[in-house]
Amino acid sequence: MSAPHRLRLQPVPAPDIMRGTMKLTCSFLLGILAACAWAQTSSLTAEVETVYPDAHALYLDLHQTPELSSHEIQTATKVASKLRDLGYTVTEHVGGTGVVAILKNGAGPTVMLRTELDGLPVEEKTGLVYASKVHTKDDSGRDVPVMHACGHDLHMASLAATAAIMAHSKSAWHGTLVLIGQPAEETISGAKRMIEDGLMTRFPKPDIAVSMHVGNTLPAGQIGVGPGYRFSNADSLRITIYGKGGHGSMPNSTIDPIVIAARVVTTLQTIVSREVKPGEVAVITVGYIQAGTKNNIIPDHAELGLTVRSYKPEVRQQMLAAIDRMTKAEASAAGATQEPKIEHLEATDAVYNDPALAQRLQGVLESALGKDRVVRDEPGMASEDFSYFTAQGVPSFYFSLGGADPGKYAEAKAAGTTLPSNHSPLFAPDVDPALHMGIEAEVAALRNLLH
Ligand SMILES: [Zn+2]
Ligand SMILES: [Zn+2]
Repeated sequence: MSAPHRLRLQPVPAPDIMRGTMKLTCSFLLGILAACAWAQTSSLTAEVETVYPDAHALYLDLHQTPELSSHEIQTATKVASKLRDLGYTVTEHVGGTGVVAILKNGAGPTVMLRTELDGLPVEEKTGLVYASKVHTKDDSGRDVPVMHACGHDLHMASLAATAAIMAHSKSAWHGTLVLIGQPAEETISGAKRMIEDGLMTRFPKPDIAVSMHVGNTLPAGQIGVGPGYRFSNADSLRITIYGKGGHGSMPNSTIDPIVIAARVVTTLQTIVSREVKPGEVAVITVGYIQAGTKNNIIPDHAELGLTVRSYKPEVRQQMLAAIDRMTKAEASAAGATQEPKIEHLEATDAVYNDPALAQRLQGVLESALGKDRVVRDEPGMASEDFSYFTAQGVPSFYFSLGGADPGKYAEAKAAGTTLPSNHSPLFAPDVDPALHMGIEAEVAALRNLLH
């Protein structure tokens, strides 16, 4: 266990006769400091143990019963009833299936902790005994598998356990704790809907908001923290390219939208490689192309789905303008008579950690969890609608929770490979160490912020 990092004992010159005593005193003090840090860490560990069996059971249940974005009906009910049983004042159906749970504990700041509720249309292939076998209909009526492939089940289990510890230790903090279960994070719509439904006006407005995300970029048992940008701006586009359909044997009588779409995909690659200033953060991915029904029919339209990522607003605008220009130019070059339709479906702003808050909490977490378990985290290119809460003028702290099996993590690192990421059918956090750490980190951060 490491001692609190701010405390350093400077050796001072002392007369010969005193040196023995001084050495003894110093080692005695160091011993006390180490013991204090150990006591702080071990008492937190002991508190987590008291709620862990419930948290683990909740995790297993949620993992096997995932629900798609905006359809988290059973999930929200389970989270709400856990929090209600703990004495929280719980409001359901906030912005759809959202849950808001409040625990008032005297005067003091208002701090919000958030979990997401939704799973993904992914078929779980982890082979775990508790793997999800759920299938459901998506919004378009298609049968789809469902999996907690992003780890939101672990976030919910951690939040429920944190809620229990906070409810059982009201002498260790004061203020107002606001816990939220946010729906539809994966479709970047739930945070916005909760805010539109009065999250910041019907309930106490948070002074600070906290959230975390589990992933395989860190071993389970560690957390990653850092100031500034954490996640990127994200824009989802749907492009429809219009051609002229006809017989596959007579391409001369058609304008082939598949060929135009293929050219668009290639041309878009030059935006990041040729137009955005080197060093700027920028990603353009075409995630799907859909066109046609049969091998000897040239369809009359093709559809592309894009995600566009950036940090800086000006880079974001540059890329969106270039996509518009290049797509229209490729259609025109092929003689298409109708301009492509470019729809901006979803967008979210970058997640940004308040630098002073991040620095403060890094120290707090290092003291509470052990310095070797808190590492500096690089910003990522994923995106999150947590930024909607920050945009309400709420400084935020978002940290990473290690989820990788430490042995597999070390092997992958040595081999220069990576473990299955979030959204993979193989994504499987190492639950015990990750969930323990999630709870410890959330409790430590909340107690400091509500002090
Ligand atoms: Zn996700
Ligand atoms: Zn996620």
